[in-house]
Amino acid sequence: MTEPTRTPTSAQAAFSLATPYRDVTCGELRADDVDREVRIAGWVHRRREHGGLTFIDLRDRHGLTQVVVNEADAPAAAELASRVRNEFVLAVTGKVHHRLPGTTNSKLPTGEIEVQASSIEVLSEANTPPFYINEPDAPVDESLRLRYRYLDIRRKPMLDRLLLRSALVKAVRDAHHRAGFVEIETPILIKSTPEGARDFIVPSRLQPGSIYALPQSPQQLKQLLMVSGMDRYFQIARCFRDEDLRGDRQPEFTQLDLEMSFVDEQRVMDFVEAMIVEVSQAVVPDRPIQQLPFPRIDYHDAIERYGSDKPDLRFGMELVDLAPALLGGAASGEAGSGEPGTGFHVFDEVLAAGGRVKAIAAPGMAGASRSQIDELTQFVRRYGAKGLAHVSVAADGTVHSPIGKFLGEERVAAAVAAVGAGPGDLVLIVADANAETVADVLGRLRQELGLRLGLADPNVLAYCWVFHFPMYQWDEELQRWDATHNPFSGVVPEDEKLLVTAAGDPHNVSHEDPAGRARAMQYDIALNGWELGGGSVRIHKRDLLERSFALQGYSYEQMHERFGAILEAFDFGAPPHGGIAMGIDRWAALFSYQTNIREVMAFPKTQSGTDLMLGAPSEPEADQFKELGLAFVGLESPGQ
Ligand code: ASP
Repeated sequence: MTEPTRTPTSAQAAFSLATPYRDVTCGELRADDVDREVRIAGWVHRRREHGGLTFIDLRDRHGLTQVVVNEADAPAAAELASRVRNEFVLAVTGKVHHRLPGTTNSKLPTGEIEVQASSIEVLSEANTPPFYINEPDAPVDESLRLRYRYLDIRRKPMLDRLLLRSALVKAVRDAHHRAGFVEIETPILIKSTPEGARDFIVPSRLQPGSIYALPQSPQQLKQLLMVSGMDRYFQIARCFRDEDLRGDRQPEFTQLDLEMSFVDEQRVMDFVEAMIVEVSQAVVPDRPIQQLPFPRIDYHDAIERYGSDKPDLRFGMELVDLAPALLGGAASGEAGSGEPGTGFHVFDEVLAAGGRVKAIAAPGMAGASRSQIDELTQFVRRYGAKGLAHVSVAADGTVHSPIGKFLGEERVAAAVAAVGAGPGDLVLIVADANAETVADVLGRLRQELGLRLGLADPNVLAYCWVFHFPMYQWDEELQRWDATHNPFSGVVPEDEKLLVTAAGDPHNVSHEDPAGRARAMQYDIALNGWELGGGSVRIHKRDLLERSFALQGYSYEQMHERFGAILEAFDFGAPPHGGIAMGIDRWAALFSYQTNIREVMAFPKTQSGTDLMLGAPSEPEADQFKELGLAFVGLESPGQ
C-alpha cells in the first residue's frame, strides 16, 4: 500500500476554505477574479427578477456574492432560480464578471463583481423564516430569537458578535501562551467550591444518595495546580451559579481563569493589565483606552469618591462630603447665631448618628422640572435612601433650594463650592445615618445620570483597578464573617495580626472583631462601570487558612469536610500564589456595546433559566429518577 503523499500544497488545501462544494466563499471574489470559473455555496439572502434575469444574493458567514442567472444562457438554472426562496441552500457554478457600470456596490467587498451562473444545485430547501434574516435592523422579539437561535445567528449583528467573541478568546489565549501559561481543563463534576452563590448539583448514579456540584469556579483546582508546580495556569472555564438572573448574569457563564505562582499583587495586576491592553488592541483597535497604566484605586477611596467598587471613570461627577462645608458655615459666618450644626435638623441628626451627607453635581440639570426631581427621588428611594435634597444653580449663578431656608445662604454657597457646581448645575444631596447607603445610592445615581446626560463616551474603554477590599463583611443573619470575595484570599501582610476575634477564640466571632478591619490582597478590574473580574493573592499556609475559615464560621470538622484537599495540600509545600478570573461574556458584551450578556452568547437562557430552543429544563425520562433513587415530592414555593 502506498502512503498518501503529503506535499505543502495539500496541507495548504486542507487548511483552505475550499471544499467539494465550493472553490471560494461568498466573501472572497474581487475584480482580479474576473473570468474565473468558480463554484460557490451558501444561503439565498435575497432574490429578485428583472426582465429575463434572476439576481440572487448568496450569503455565507464570510460575505455576500451576487449571482445572475440569464434565462437565455442557462435556461435550466433560470428555471430552478425562479423557484428558490430566501434561505434555500444552493451551490452555484459560474463565471466571474465585472458588474455593469453604475451597478457596482462599494459597500460590499465583492461589490465590483457578480457570478453569472451556468448551473445551480439546490442543496437544501427552507421554510419561510419566522423573522427577517436579511434585515439586520428589523426589531425581533427576543423570545423568538432565542427559540430560533440558529436563524438569529445567521443575522449579521449576532454573527458579528460571535466573531468578536471568538477573536477575544483567541487574543486571550495568544497572550497567555506567550507569557508561559499552560492551558489546563478542570472537571465539571466536582465538590462544591463556594463563590457566594447556590450550587447546581448532579446526583450520582454510581454512588446513590451522593451529589456532585458543578463548579462555581475552578478556584480550588487552580490553587492545587500551583501546589503541583504548574507555575502558570489559565483556562477559558465554564462556571455555574444557581442564582436569580440579571442582565449581566446567566446560570452558566465563561471566565478567563488564571493563577500564577511566586507572585504578589503587583505582579498579577501587571500581567493582567498588559494582557488586557493587548487583547483590547487586537479585538477593538479603534476603541481608545482612557488611561494607561490603569488607575489603581484603593477600595475605600472608590467608595468615597464614586460610591462603587466598580466605578465608571469615563466621567467625573464625584461624590463630595458636604459635612465640612455645612459645618464650616456654622463655625464662621453664622457663629454669632450660636446655632451649631448645619441648620437643617435632618442633616444634623444624620451627622450626630455617625452618618454622612454627600452630594454630586449634575451638569446642566439646574432646570430640572418638579417631576424630574420626583423621579430622581423615587430612584434613590428604590435603593434605600430616605430622600433627595437638591440645590439648583441658575445660569446667572443664583442658587435655589427647598432646604435653603434652613441652611442659610452661606452654607448653601459653601456646599455648592465644595461639590464644584457651576451655573446650570444641579446639586443632589443624600443624607443617611448609614454611610454605606449614602455611598451606594449616590453611586447608582451618579452612574445613571452619567449615562442619561451622555457624559460617558460609549467608545472609550475606561479600565481601572480597585484593590485592598476588606477581608470580611459581617453577616448579621448568620452572625459570622463572610469573605467579601473568595474564602481563600490572602490578607495584606501588615493586617495579618488582625485576623483574630475580640474573644480570643477564633471560633467565637462577633461584629467587634479586629478581623473586620483587615484588608485582603484582593483586586478587582472594572470597565465602564462593570465589574470585569476579580482575584487575589491567596493564603498559602495551612494554619492561616484555618484561622480565616474559622472566622468565616466553619468548625474544624466543616472546613476539613469541605476544603480538606486544599488544607492537606498546603502541608506538602505550597508556593505563594495568586490569580484572577475575568468574565469573558461581560468583556465581549462591553466590546460590542451590549448591556446584556445574552447578546454575546450563542445559546443563552432566558431570565427564568429556560433554553427556549431545546426546551430545557425538562421533565426527566421515566427511568432517570428511578435509576438515581430519586422522587420528586414537590416544593412548597417553587423556585425559592
Ligand atoms: N474564583 C474567583 C471568582 O470566580 C476569582 C479568583 O479569585 O481568581 O470570582
